[in-house]
Amino acid sequence: MKVINLGENNSILNRFVAELRDKEIQKDSLRFRRNLERIGEIFAYEISKTLEYNQKEVTTPLGIANCSVPDENLILGTILRAGLPLHNGILNFFDKAQNAFIAAYRKYGKDNKFTIQIEYISSPKVEGKTLILADTMLATGSSLVLAYNKLCELGEPAHTHIVCPIASEYSLGYLSKQLPHKKVTLWVAAVDEELTNKSYIVPGIGDAGDLAYGNKL
Ligand code: URA
Repeated sequence: MKVINLGENNSILNRFVAELRDKEIQKDSLRFRRNLERIGEIFAYEISKTLEYNQKEVTTPLGIANCSVPDENLILGTILRAGLPLHNGILNFFDKAQNAFIAAYRKYGKDNKFTIQIEYISSPKVEGKTLILADTMLATGSSLVLAYNKLCELGEPAHTHIVCPIASEYSLGYLSKQLPHKKVTLWVAAVDEELTNKSYIVPGIGDAGDLAYGNKL
């Protein structure tokens, strides 16, 4: 699996990620969501460079321009609920993309141990398409792998771009073992070293879903 860490080079992306992490700025949930959306837009722009392009003649008021335009036969998938602002950011750039949504949650048992349950999936066929699968945080990576496998039951994508602003080192190892090597690219903005015993990323950002949409029961 190819891993591209956009945070390794200086760009405005790093300020948006720093703001996601900042516990004072996090108090403004509108700004938190908007930063995730802006991060999604930056990832979409970078992914657009990897797509196939076709020549198209465009009629302007003064003549004909030959334009190179991307093939946007894409499916954007996200895991509810934290991935939604990131998904919207990617969709801001890929107007024609189709969309998939997956609901996954942690079902806790004893000793803080949990399994990931997939409750709901809504998706078009992904067979032969380019899939962009967005999730805000990759802690263990297990919900992402489950979501990917569930989508693949609807056909195998030609290529999958996984977009995840903040990933743990552990998840990188897990994904590279679980996902098909040549058909997946992982895009991140930061890789953090630690996971707590509740599988939160350290330093991370905290609970991305709660920060974007408020506490849950
Ligand atoms: N999901 C989150 O929202 N935060 C983490 O640290 C890990 C997973």
